[in-house]
Amino acid sequence: MSLFRGKRILIGISASIAAYKSAFLVREFIKKGAQVQVIMTPESTKFVTPLTLSTLSKNPVLFSLVKEDNEHLWNNHVDIGQWADMMVIAPATANTLSKMAHGECDNLLLTTYMSAKCPVYFAPAMDLDMLKHHSTQKNIEKLVSFGNIYVPVQEGELASGLYGKGRMAEPHDIISFIENDCYKKMPLYHKSILVTAGPTYESIDPIRFIGNHSSGKMGYAIAEEAANQGANVVLISGPTHLEVSHSNIQLIRLESADEMHQACLQHFEKVDVAIMSAAVSDFKPDTKRHEKIKKTDTNFKLNLVKTPDILHQLGQIKTNQILVGFALETNNEIDHAKNKLKNKQLDFIVLNSLNDKGAGFKTDTNKITIIDNHNKLYNFELKSKNEVAKDIINHLTKHLNDI
Ligand code: C5P
Repeated sequence: MSLFRGKRILIGISASIAAYKSAFLVREFIKKGAQVQVIMTPESTKFVTPLTLSTLSKNPVLFSLVKEDNEHLWNNHVDIGQWADMMVIAPATANTLSKMAHGECDNLLLTTYMSAKCPVYFAPAMDLDMLKHHSTQKNIEKLVSFGNIYVPVQEGELASGLYGKGRMAEPHDIISFIENDCYKKMPLYHKSILVTAGPTYESIDPIRFIGNHSSGKMGYAIAEEAANQGANVVLISGPTHLEVSHSNIQLIRLESADEMHQACLQHFEKVDVAIMSAAVSDFKPDTKRHEKIKKTDTNFKLNLVKTPDILHQLGQIKTNQILVGFALETNNEIDHAKNKLKNKQLDFIVLNSLNDKGAGFKTDTNKITIIDNHNKLYNFELKSKNEVAKDIINHLTKHLNDI
């Protein structure tokens, strides 16, 4: 899933020949699932038409302080500025940069820039000598010191026929630059996280198995949220019908507790965090039968042996990893969870009680209590599993910041 899906992006266009490339920029953002609003300086409409940009952005393009079709009404730059999750000014001419740096606002793009509270990226475009000019360099420095983000110019042929630095970055480079910048600022950037999810199936014969009601939704939501916060995730999943959409999630599908055990051991050493939300079967049949067990007249007895407690083993071998377990309890919930936290050497444990309506298996909601390794309790309301995943990942982020 793209970082830009559902994001509200304001694209500001000022009067440079590079404005024709802004059409591709708009199209790329739309293709990535963003909502796009274009604002142009009046002069820039001579380089690329508002019709082209409104068609691509699926929104009317704004370029005047008053409404284009009714001069008694204004285009509310405050609302537009506050609507945006991100503003991208591309191309940013020397003139527009100078005005941004000095707080001048004689057009809609500039008034909106002054009202915006979101991150602002600017991609300059101009001739090489204009770029080198002391005033332009000072303006760029000033804008960066205000917290705006400079998308570096590229070198190449310029509209003047000269060759040098000053070309606006290509649209796909602007997008990659912004993506990288956003990732770098994410709380889990450069962290690798192992998540287990779903049930395990312990084979009785080729037809039957011992399993449980876990849907895997909680673990998949945790994996998605961790990836949304910039982590690289290895999701080790028992049988579920769920899919992952984030490109930072490596999904490993398997069936049994033994397979999950092997996969976890293989990846644990390389990760910073392991969140074990799978409902691993505690027992498996003692023998693996390759043929279907026939019906008998008498009762049939199945001998069960214990599966490895993966979480417990990871607790024994952990070095610097943060280890998070789950506890699904029906009675004496807090005490049982605290014991698991200690015995399995966890950094924190997520408790859900089957006594809470809407919590546990199969539901789309969950109600959790997090207990940390100082036995401090954090209670949360009943929420969707996606929201619960956010709470768990936020707790993890705070924990990582505190150590
Ligand atoms: O001891 P209990 O099974 O209640 O502990 C639950 C926690 O231990 C969960 O985080 C679960 O994923 C993990 N677990 C495991 N391997 C097992 C059983 C449970 O990793 N065989």
